[in-house]
Amino acid sequence: MNLETKILNGLERLSEALKALLWEKAKVYGISPIQIQILLFVANHKTEICNVSYMAKEFNVTKATISDAVRVLLKKEYFEKDFSPIDNRRYNLSLTNLGAELVDNLSGYAIQFEEELSSFKNQDLKIVYDTLTKLIFQLNQRDVIQVQRTCFNCKYYSGDKKNSHYCNFLNSELKKQEIRLDCNEFEEAASS
Ligand code: SF4
Repeated sequence: MNLETKILNGLERLSEALKALLWEKAKVYGISPIQIQILLFVANHKTEICNVSYMAKEFNVTKATISDAVRVLLKKEYFEKDFSPIDNRRYNLSLTNLGAELVDNLSGYAIQFEEELSSFKNQDLKIVYDTLTKLIFQLNQRDVIQVQRTCFNCKYYSGDKKNSHYCNFLNSELKKQEIRLDCNEFEEAASS
């Protein structure tokens, strides 16, 4: 078995373990894993992208799947609708106080991962992070990962994507570990 295949097997196992942890939390609060993912997404992103179409792309599922989950979360009063001023059929989602309380309870679902990661040397973590950011960008270029808000795909980024990185929004050089995978200031570059 070559190293690439072994890494893939490892990523698969990690992904399964994360899903299992998410499922455990979901059972405690009586909501589904996709509903948790939607809640965490809305809690951590600007309102302009918290809508059914965007999240369907983000999670690689149909709009109907997101709509069903959102309907339940609205009924449970975890979300409120922020209607578009120009088209009252379109809306974005934001958390209610009840939703924010639930997110607080959910957000530590992967604490075991964080604890174990913190046992590694900082230098090793930087190498892993650097590889992950590049892998995600390359898979995005091949349409395997549909949505990503990383520096390498951002109009504010300049650099060689290897050793030199600069953010024109922050007006600052970025070290490898400062490359963002999910940046709120991200704007898609015209050529990407
Ligand atoms: S705005 Fe965010 S995503 Fe874009 S280059 Fe700067 S840090 Fe990276």
